[in-house]
Parts: sequence; structure tokens; C-alpha cells
Amino acid sequence: MLVNKMQQYKKVLKRFIRLKFWWLYAKPVNDTFLYDINQAVAKKIGMKPFKVIKVAEASFYNAMVFSFSCKSITITSFLKEAGRDAIEGVFLHEYAHCKLKHGQKLFCLALLLLILSILPVTYLLLNSTSMIEAVFASITLALVYIFVQLILRRKARRFEYEADLFAALHATNSCAYIDLLCSFLRHKPFKNKINKITEIFSSHPSPHSRIENIVRHFPEMLKCMENTCRGGPGGI
Ligand SMILES: [Zn+2]
Repeated sequence: MLVNKMQQYKKVLKRFIRLKFWWLYAKPVNDTFLYDINQAVAKKIGMKPFKVIKVAEASFYNAMVFSFSCKSITITSFLKEAGRDAIEGVFLHEYAHCKLKHGQKLFCLALLLLILSILPVTYLLLNSTSMIEAVFASITLALVYIFVQLILRRKARRFEYEADLFAALHATNSCAYIDLLCSFLRHKPFKNKINKITEIFSSHPSPHSRIENIVRHFPEMLKCMENTCRGGPGGI
């Protein structure tokens, strides 16, 4: 009984790690289809193309770049099957993080917040002379840490919106990019209320907010939702 339970927990943990750290399982590929898209997108926006393209076996859409170096892009095998236009949109989104230096900006902000807030509280903690002072300083440190995280996550979500707008603006078929975001809605059918609560702790806005943001800036793209997003959560 206990062994069964342990095996079950191990399976769940493995699945969780695979879902959260899917990019760790990626391998470089020599795929001419992906390299063609990569070259075309980089040329279109005047950037150096990613040198390496990695693909991770996974049954969901995802992509990422380490926006400090911007030398490689990692996508899931599921995304690879989404079609040229959708992949182009995703590459544009990831290139936007590099072009707009989101990684560097986030790092500088984190460093600044750390110096301005966490270090003084840590100093207080180290110099507390009584138990009450130490407890008070610990609670303050925890609250400051949460506050800093919330600011960083909020900024990260702003950057996601920016990258979405960049992708929608430069995509050959921006509807394909919006279609992809719509499919996130179908795969993550959270209720709006839960979304609003969980969103403040997330580095990515909900797909619903992302689509809304694109349509707010490019009202002509509302037509993209006529087929795929009609009647979906949020009703846009
Ligand atoms: Zn992004």
C-alpha cells in the first residue's frame, strides 16, 4: 500500500518536473523547416538568427529563449506541428524578448529591488538583539520578498504583452498567432475568477488577457476570433 502510494507520488512529481522544466529535456535539431522559419523571421526584423534550435518532446505548446544570450530557441515537439504561420508568430514573440532586452531589464530591476529592499531588512535581521526583533525582522523579510516577487512578475507579464504585440504586428498571418493563444484557452479552461487571482503570481498573463491586449491595440484583428475563439472563456 505504502509502496504504491510512493510510486504514485513519484509519478506525479516526475510529470510536474516534465511540465515545468520541459526545456531541460530538449535536444538540438537540424530541421530545415524550422531553420527556414528562423532565418526568415530574423531577416524580417533585422536580427541575428538563433544559432541553435532545440526541440523537447512534449504534448503541449511552449517555447523559450534565454534572453540574455539569445543564441538558441527551445520549442516543444507539439508546437512544431502547429504550422508555419503559428511557429513564425512564436519565433517573433521570442525574438521580441531579445530585441527589447527583456531579460536584461528584468535582471536590473531585480537587482535594484534587492538592494533597496531585501538588503536593509536582512541587515536588521542580522543585528536584532532580542527574539521579538528577530521574529519581526523575519516576517518583514518574508513580506518584502513576496512584494518584490509580485513586482517582478508584474513586469514580466508586461514584457509578455509587449512581445505579443511585436509578434502580432510583424507576423505574416497574425490570425495564426491569435489562434495559437486561443488554443491555450481551450487547453487551460480556468474560470476568470481563478485566473485573476493566480495571474498576480504568474510570470505570464492568461491567454484571455493576452488576446484582449492584442485586440485592444489592433482592433482589426478581432476578425481573427470569428472562427476559433467565438464563445470561448471571456467571450471575446
Ligand atoms: Zn514570452
